[in-house]
Amino acid sequence: MNYRPFAGLLFSAVVLFALFYVSINSASELTSVPAIADESGAVLIIDAGHGGADGGAVSVTGKCESEINLEIAQRIKLLAEFLGYKPIMTRETDDIIYPDEADTIRKKKVADTRARVELVNSCSGAFLVSVHQNKYTSASPSGAQVFFKGDCKELAEKIQSDFTQYVNFDGKRTAKPVASDIYLFAKTECPGLLVECGFLSNPDEAVKLETNEHQKLLTLLVIGNISNYIF
Ligand SMILES: [Zn+2]
Repeated sequence: MNYRPFAGLLFSAVVLFALFYVSINSASELTSVPAIADESGAVLIIDAGHGGADGGAVSVTGKCESEINLEIAQRIKLLAEFLGYKPIMTRETDDIIYPDEADTIRKKKVADTRARVELVNSCSGAFLVSVHQNKYTSASPSGAQVFFKGDCKELAEKIQSDFTQYVNFDGKRTAKPVASDIYLFAKTECPGLLVECGFLSNPDEAVKLETNEHQKLLTLLVIGNISNYIF
């Protein structure tokens, strides 16, 4: 990768520590971290977009967006825990249990999104990070982009600037407010970020988005900046 040496060094150090941390904590211990706020009173809620009956966009590689979202969201969770936070995930697996009356894909999606809204709104001091992948009708667009809601424009701009420096290598994308028709953000009360990690319609980026190296870099830039600005 051609990101700068300092970032590479910092990145390697954090990843090594994170790996050490993960190795000394069993998976069951990690998933049973209590859903309480850290000392600042803020609660980080990590949302892996889509899941269950809703795979989201499909990559040119054939992989569903929901799976890539979950992989990156889980990395964000692990690194957040390593940094001392107690994040809450809106989903931990690709299986979602729906109410019996949700007997169509549309009803399942609605029920799931409502449950996520309820979870987020039940946490006081919540800060939401929703992980998604982008897709376009042509193959050329690429790059990670951050959208923000509430009082976190500066944070969003810093993450976007890091994306430009270490991931996108151009300044075409800017941090923007979350569109008002994104249900999860429209119906939740807390501030937050929607992170579109890259384009599944761009063959080069689609392949990169499935690699450990690229997912770890995105994770580090997102949670490293959240840690500096919010918590
Ligand atoms: Zn999505």
